[in-house]
Amino acid sequence: MPATILQGKEVAKSIRAELAEEVLELKKQGIVPGLTVILVGDDPASHSYVRGKSKGCEEVGIRSELILKEASTTEAELLAIIQQLNQNPNVNGILVQLPLPSHISEEAVLDAIDPKKDVDGFHPINVGNMVIGNETLLPCTPHGVIELIKRTGTQIAGKHAVVIGRSNIVGKPVSLLLQRENATVTMCHSRTQDLPSFTKMADILVVAAGKAHMIGKEHVKPGAVVIDVGVNRNEEGKLVGDVKFDEVKDSASYLTPVPGGVGPMTITMLLKNTVQAARQQASKSFDM
Ligand code: NDP
Repeated sequence: MPATILQGKEVAKSIRAELAEEVLELKKQGIVPGLTVILVGDDPASHSYVRGKSKGCEEVGIRSELILKEASTTEAELLAIIQQLNQNPNVNGILVQLPLPSHISEEAVLDAIDPKKDVDGFHPINVGNMVIGNETLLPCTPHGVIELIKRTGTQIAGKHAVVIGRSNIVGKPVSLLLQRENATVTMCHSRTQDLPSFTKMADILVVAAGKAHMIGKEHVKPGAVVIDVGVNRNEEGKLVGDVKFDEVKDSASYLTPVPGGVGPMTITMLLKNTVQAARQQASKSFDM
């Protein structure tokens, strides 16, 4: 039987509708969630991502502000802006759009964000809390992957999940979150030998390698849930995933398309984090 195509767009839409309700409730209590995005330089892709984030905020009722800085902005200037935002009670979430110009240390900038306002979930304190299983702001793409799997109705506990990729922003956190959901997790990477022998054992296969069409039918166990995080451009300039969609759709039980699968979930999880941050800051019960 062909796979059910997991339309991230549809799942994201229903989560956004839930978030809009939650924001309305918060507003009745005088809480208006606020996100500030800082964009340094004129990278067209970054501008397009930031537009998507502002649009998402508008859709669910989050107040959003965009701080645009020239590419020549110094690290000290950027750190000073972050300090001000850390102090501003109307700002619940701070997001610095990456990549930053090469003269600015991304690590220094991300570490300067108050962990309570780190809606990207990249601050070492939030990463540490995720590792030890404390409630915290989770990184958006990995969180989106877990939500997508859950919304298929698939029971994650007890399943064998195989993750291809071990980056700090996707593979590693996805593996940790799957383990937290009580899956048995195998992590594969570029040094893994005989990749198909691992992937063929997966009930849930998450592919985040950034290698166009590297996963074919021979890698997938019939009936597996396959989540394709990869975003690549093929020779014709078209966006394609890491999975050979047309081949794998005949053996998987669920499969995400690229585009329209994991991508739409990422911004939605950012909105969810902003609402969570606003709620936690209002209750002041979020001790770090
Ligand atoms: P990185 O390049 O940082 O990491 C890629 C990982 O894949 C590495 O761990 C690497 O192994 C592993 N890998 C590379 N080639 C192979 C291979 N042939 N076999 C097995 N493992 C391999 O990428 P990211 O994690 O940042 O992103 C992964 C993909 O996800 C990209 O296509 C990116 O565009 C996409 N992405 C999509 C998002 C979305 O919202 N949809 C958000 C973020 C990313 P090693 O560690 O050994 O080098």
